[in-house]
Amino acid sequence: MKRRPLIWRLYPSYLIITILSLFMVTWYAVNYMGELYLQERSADLEARAKLVGHSIGPLITGAQSARDMEALNDLCVELGRETNTRITAIQPSGVVLCDSEEIPSRMDNHSDRPEIRDALAGQTGTTIRYSYTLKTTFMYVAIPLVQDENLSVIRTSVPVSSLEVVLRNARLRLAVGALLAMILSSIVSLVVTRWIIRPLGEMKKGIERFASGDLSARLPIPDTDEFATLAEEMNSMASQLDERMKAIVHQRNELEAVLSSMVEGVIAFDGDNRIITINHAAANILDLDPEHVAGKSVQEAIRNTDLQAFIERTSSASSPIEGEIVLHADGERFLQIHGTPLEASGGERMGALLVLNDLTRIRTLERIRRDFVANASHEIRTPVTSIKGFVETLLEGAIDDPEVAHRFLEIIGKHSDRLNAIVEDLLSLSRIEREAEDDDMFLERENIGEVIEEAVEACHVAADAKGITVRSNCRGESSAFINRSLLVQALINLIDNAIKYSEADREVLVQCESVPTGITVSVKDNGCGIAPEHLPRLFERFYRVDKSRSRDLGGTGLGLSIVKHIVQSHGGKVDVSSEPGKGSVFTIYLKNQG
Ligand code: ADP
Repeated sequence: MKRRPLIWRLYPSYLIITILSLFMVTWYAVNYMGELYLQERSADLEARAKLVGHSIGPLITGAQSARDMEALNDLCVELGRETNTRITAIQPSGVVLCDSEEIPSRMDNHSDRPEIRDALAGQTGTTIRYSYTLKTTFMYVAIPLVQDENLSVIRTSVPVSSLEVVLRNARLRLAVGALLAMILSSIVSLVVTRWIIRPLGEMKKGIERFASGDLSARLPIPDTDEFATLAEEMNSMASQLDERMKAIVHQRNELEAVLSSMVEGVIAFDGDNRIITINHAAANILDLDPEHVAGKSVQEAIRNTDLQAFIERTSSASSPIEGEIVLHADGERFLQIHGTPLEASGGERMGALLVLNDLTRIRTLERIRRDFVANASHEIRTPVTSIKGFVETLLEGAIDDPEVAHRFLEIIGKHSDRLNAIVEDLLSLSRIEREAEDDDMFLERENIGEVIEEAVEACHVAADAKGITVRSNCRGESSAFINRSLLVQALINLIDNAIKYSEADREVLVQCESVPTGITVSVKDNGCGIAPEHLPRLFERFYRVDKSRSRDLGGTGLGLSIVKHIVQSHGGKVDVSSEPGKGSVFTIYLKNQG
């Protein structure tokens, strides 16, 4: 339906009602006035007829001769001229005695005229009709005149045309008056209509402010009772709505705060599997932009088919389900998923809720633990198997040959040392880890130069055996909060490696340098170097670049791992840069404390 402003609905109705009522009043007034005027004229003609009757009555009874008739006619003409009325006297037989406008002898018998018949019946007869005598329409009033027991009829008449002129004038004036009244009333109704609906315009502006979200706005209260009630109701509705909106926003903020602070990823879907809510954890796990995916379908937003299938299953499930999937972007990510179908209070299906737990860290730790147990068992098994083998051989008779027995016992001793070294290193590792976890590491401000000297001194025999010179160099302020014995052990491990993996007669440089945020200690050698693919895993337990060479050199594969844990327990980090064939630099970085 076509919408029109209220004013154009109200105003035309007002206008039509006003025009119609004015028209009807005018029409009634014109008719009534015409009737009144005709009644007035007929009464006037009757009165004139009576007066005329008084004047000419005696002449009618006495008119015997032609002269008398002439005198009667002259009087009739005279009276007619003076009163501006046509006067006719008629005998009961219908013969015209005199007429102010026409010669009576020329006039036909008038007994058939209705007004004459009425007058002869003793009443006043009034008619309006066409006069064939004068060829015009007249209003006739005829009265009976009884003079000396003789009856005659006196008739007065005026032409209707003159009445019509008067009536037309009167109608014209009424019509002009009515037209002016219509114009005035249409202007007044326009003003009144505008005045009535003016509060609606102000209310509309207020409601538009509500609609734009400004629920603190209030509508002005108009002085019309109905509009005032409406405005008050709207204001109270807006304030209730305002309160509810604030409550909803508050709840939503709380929910968002809870969701965004959750470590678990949460995704809610609607019945069409479109994403309604996704928290930051879920977005991070699935590598999605939370703003971008909201409202998108699962197929569009989530590219993983296993996850899509799980969501489908959750949507059609009747109770919560659980599963695990692996994501393969940027390495493997293990996810544990709980899917709960969402139902409205009426029981109808609204969508689904997914809670994602990133198990990657736990799985990695499990793998590291498994690898560690396997590696440690493997490392220990080798010397244990050898020792067992040589002991059995000795027991089987080799012990009787002193030379062989001596050689075997030497080998058994070497493997025992190796076992001892592994156990020692493992114990150190777990001790360092425990101390770091319990936070009961004893730290003291120590001179790093002295620590380096102590470590270099400890490696002195091994270096001399290979003809390697170990030089140390300390620049600037070189004191730091450290656990002296642990840092000495870390440096020994690094210097020992530098010596082990360098050719004879090379040089190892241990350098200490202060940087703006702490201190660095680096051990540089000119040895065999390490290929880049080994660098990321170099600090893992039991990781070796060349297993047999490491074993031959008495390595346990735990040296660098111990270094890493010692440095981490100091809140620092260790780094390596190396070029195969040219040498390596291991750098320990210790932060300034406090
Ligand atoms: P290992 O007891 O075998 O020396 P580490 O944990 O100390 O065990 O070192 C791990 C591996 O890193 C070694 O097996 C060796 O291959 C490599 N590596 C360590 N330091 C150096 C170095 N200075 N030069 C070359 N390779 C090194």
